This record gives sequence, structure tokens and C-alpha cells, in this order.
Amino acid sequence: MKPIKRVKSYKTLNCRKCSRAVHNCGERATAVICSICTMIAVGFPEESKPKRKPSGRPSGWHFMKEFVDKDGKVFHKGKEQPKLKGTLPPTKVAPKKKPAKRRTKEEILLARNAEKKAALKQAVKKQKDFINHTLGDV
Ligand SMILES: [Zn+2]
Repeated sequence: MKPIKRVKSYKTLNCRKCSRAVHNCGERATAVICSICTMIAVGFPEESKPKRKPSGRPSGWHFMKEFVDKDGKVFHKGKEQPKLKGTLPPTKVAPKKKPAKRRTKEEILLARNAEKKAALKQAVKKQKDFINHTLGDV
């Protein structure tokens, strides 16, 4: 049995606004607006997304057995314990680790080159030692 190529049943139309070719339109579609024009009309999705406010708490604080916020709020596994508010010293937050610096391709190649050179040096030294030893024995 041959697989049915469904793509063939879709047609390409030109955008009503900018006449950009839009593929995979429904067979019965008579007009189409491309994704770009839609995006312009709707606005970029980033704008509508609510920005995540930094809580000032360490990541995973709500998994901690006990976490005391700067304002004295006490949380047990992420659940606030109002009765305990202000009774405990705030949990010290360790500063975030800086992500390891990524090496560039060039740096990786240079490091690899240096490794190869070192290996070569050792090989040469071994050979020299070998020659010296055999000559010394004679
Ligand atoms: Zn368009």
C-alpha cells in the first residue's frame, strides 16, 4: 500500500496583505494571511507574556524542608507557616554560580594542538632515552 501524500491536497496561496506565498493552505481556503502579517496584527507574543518576577529566593526553595524569606516568612516545603513568621533568621542564599565560560572553537583547537605537541615531545624524549640507554649499554 502506498502512503498517501497529503501535502498534495494542500495548496499555496498568496498572502492577502503582503502577497507572500503561503504553503499548506486548506483546500477550500480562498484567501490567506501569512504568519508575519498575523504576527504584526496580533503583536509579538513576547509582549503579552507576563514577565517572571525574580522572587529573590533560591531556585528550588519550595522543595526545601524549611526556608525563611528575607522578610521573616517561614515556609515548610514551600508552604507558608504564618505562625512562625519572624521567629527564625532568614535562610542564607548562596550566590549563584557563574556558568562555566564556554570555549570558542579556536580555543578548543589550540588546546588540542598543545596536547598533541606535548604528546609528541614525550614520544621524542622516550626515543632519545631509548637511544641513550642502548648506546650507554654498548
Ligand atoms: Zn503577509
